[in-house]
Amino acid sequence: MNGLEISHFVKALPKVELHIHIEGTLTPALRWKLAQRNNVLLPYATYEELVDSYQVTYNHRKEVNGDDGRPTFLEAYFAGCQVLQTEEDFYELAMAYLRRCREMHVRYVEPFFDIQAHTERGIPAEVVLDGYLRAKHDGVHDFEVESNWIFCFLRDRPVHEGLAAYEAARPWACCPGGKGLFHAVGLAANEFERPPILFEQAFARAREDCLHVTMHCDVDQKDAVDHVHEAVFQVCGGQGAERIDHGLNAVERPELMQGLRDRGIGLTLCPHAYHRRQETAVLFRKIQILLDAGVTVCINSDDPAYMREYNPFQLRHRHTYKHRSDDVWIDGNMQKVQTYCGLSKASMVQLSRNAVEMSWAAPQVKRRILAELDEVDTR
Ligand SMILES: [Zn+2]
Repeated sequence: MNGLEISHFVKALPKVELHIHIEGTLTPALRWKLAQRNNVLLPYATYEELVDSYQVTYNHRKEVNGDDGRPTFLEAYFAGCQVLQTEEDFYELAMAYLRRCREMHVRYVEPFFDIQAHTERGIPAEVVLDGYLRAKHDGVHDFEVESNWIFCFLRDRPVHEGLAAYEAARPWACCPGGKGLFHAVGLAANEFERPPILFEQAFARAREDCLHVTMHCDVDQKDAVDHVHEAVFQVCGGQGAERIDHGLNAVERPELMQGLRDRGIGLTLCPHAYHRRQETAVLFRKIQILLDAGVTVCINSDDPAYMREYNPFQLRHRHTYKHRSDDVWIDGNMQKVQTYCGLSKASMVQLSRNAVEMSWAAPQVKRRILAELDEVDTR
């Protein structure tokens, strides 16, 4: 990771991940395998070419900064989804991530999933949801990783389409008579001129089903600060969201940090995602300001398969890619925060504790992970 080693302490620290898009964990290897299995034609002749395509840093936004001809992150992400076709594919994707969770000592996770990205390709909702539901159960049995999932409305699509997708997915919700896959809703995809309040009706519908509500407030997006303001003070009938995904722009206004504190709204930060756009000293100073202000934050990975470490040296020496593993997962994100914010081991344990407390895990699951964190040696 650009010369940064993940320490034994960070590796072994019990973790909880609250901001991970399951479709964003699709590695080139699994994408290649599923493309072969499903006869999906990829625009790459060889596996090496596919891996090479991931070296592009998808960190620009056409809407905000102009079109430079490269695919954006979201274009790459939705292109990856094309290989996911059968229930087995969705199951395999989720199991691969949950297996990795065990390796990274992630005890509990709340993955986001998209329905609209798949139904618009003609994949029935039940194919997606049954695959994820089977993985949720088998993840506990095979890897001892518990999960509760989060349905995402794609915010760049019309609200009524999102509501229709929600109704299709509702039998899989954690509500009376439901199959128990997802216990919350969120907002994902392109936030440009799509403020959270547009989805007020969708949040109300989910709240009627007693589901939790979180939402992305994308970093440095157009109107980013106003979006955080809406998420803190206006949505859900003025109560605010229960959590905010990203929301880093809150540092720009003291009243937003105050609102987050007063209302007990935590931020699920994904430092590596921002590090691709911001200078180290600038970015980690912002995270430090949030910590110093007493805003509750936890550290996550977002879309690790598509957010690779930018390394200009290796971009000049393309042949060196092949055996490089430079995707950054939750442990890499935690290491960046520890190193660049200069945090103690005790502070790192607190970040894990924050994630437990910000989560909507069952009380016994929270208690078990907190007890494990109490035992971590911070000397
Ligand atoms: Zn995200």
